[in-house]
Amino acid sequence: MNSIYEHIYKASPNALSNLLISLYNTSQYRIRHGGEYQEFRRYFEESEKWPQEKVEQEQLKRLRHFLRYAYHHSEYYRNKWEALHLDFDNLGWDEFRQIPFLTKEDLQKNIKTICTINPKTAVKFQTGGTTGVALQVFYTHQNIQERFAMVEHFRSRFGFQFGEKTAWFTGKDLLSQKDVDKHRYWKTDYQNHIRFYSTFYIQQKNVPQYIENLNAYQPVYFSGITSSMAEIAKTGLKLGLKLNYQPKAVFPTAETLLKEDRNAMEKFYGCGVYNQYASSEGAPFITQCKEGHMHLEMMSGIFEVLDLQDKPSNYGELVVTSFTTEGTPLIRYRIGDLVELETEKQDCYLRYPIVKKIHGRFTDCLFSRETGRVCQGNIANSLKHVNGVQRFQIIQNNLDSIAVNVVKTKEYQKETDEKMLTKELRIRLGKKIKIEYRYVDEIPNERSGKFRLVKNFCKESI
Ligand SMILES: [Zn+2]
Repeated sequence: MNSIYEHIYKASPNALSNLLISLYNTSQYRIRHGGEYQEFRRYFEESEKWPQEKVEQEQLKRLRHFLRYAYHHSEYYRNKWEALHLDFDNLGWDEFRQIPFLTKEDLQKNIKTICTINPKTAVKFQTGGTTGVALQVFYTHQNIQERFAMVEHFRSRFGFQFGEKTAWFTGKDLLSQKDVDKHRYWKTDYQNHIRFYSTFYIQQKNVPQYIENLNAYQPVYFSGITSSMAEIAKTGLKLGLKLNYQPKAVFPTAETLLKEDRNAMEKFYGCGVYNQYASSEGAPFITQCKEGHMHLEMMSGIFEVLDLQDKPSNYGELVVTSFTTEGTPLIRYRIGDLVELETEKQDCYLRYPIVKKIHGRFTDCLFSRETGRVCQGNIANSLKHVNGVQRFQIIQNNLDSIAVNVVKTKEYQKETDEKMLTKELRIRLGKKIKIEYRYVDEIPNERSGKFRLVKNFCKESI
């Protein structure tokens, strides 16, 4: 939305802001579902059935095409690759691996010369950025159509149909002060049957109102920020609140899906939770199949998993090249996530490689001199035997200490619960690290609307 539109929107009464949302959304869906969207849907349906050899050939063909495009249209890549003399028609994997990496800092600093299209006609996406610096990337309409075809192809594995009522949990700034005063934490696009729920007010005291509204609206699908949908589920279960109807699926996005969150959501929403990995700056997709694995979507890009020496590995940093980023090409992009590939053979109708676990962002890990990198999923588990913690967050500023912010409930007993949490944290982080507790009334979500369990600001890395 541009700023004038946003201004009018904010000043509008509820019915009008709903209408403005519908109009804006409809214009977006006209792009997303227009052009070659249907062809891409067919392409993903078909390519999923191809034999491995054909998949690999197609992937290499698309890679060559994409690299050639970036070289001819992006000043940044042309300059960077000048000395490599890449032969795009015959490029092989060894040659590909000579291409320099692109870091988040590179992308931020050089966005103007990386970008290949006119920003005015592009579809823009704002990325939150873990450093707090927001970054805008630009997509061509065709790439947007392919990306939406990919997402909706994945969702269709679980019966999803666009147009059925959807609850969308969003980190966008949706509400006016009047809405908040009236405890109205949502806006509705009546045209496309989507109700957008703000993620900024999901605190225990407001959750009953969210659930009451879900029961009134009865969305068939849930989509959006994982931790927010999980928070509603966990609080709902705790307070004994229930949905009074049967939804079909929950599609979390934008965050690592923790096991305990999946369990809580399955229980509360009473349906399957189907995961996908992508990112707003345009990463290729990793999606769940009907058997429950997470597969690399080979037609969406190249996935490299590299160890600390940047050698191919089964566990390490994910580096991506994404075919649907012609506007802002991501080539050997260090996206900052840790993943683990499945090494044992699995039976599946889908032949794409399987990811055993997506561990999440480096900045969502804690560092310990004794135990190395400890990811947030592991940290979340340390709460297993602790009662009375409503929410907690761990901040690390240096390698020798952590600060644990805790929002406690009435059941919390400092003596025993603090001791138990310390014990659990020591199992994961070692005996030496200093642990400091701070009791707070609230831990707010990030500006992006997401909640971060771990915030790592260490200058040194492990
Ligand atoms: Zn599978």
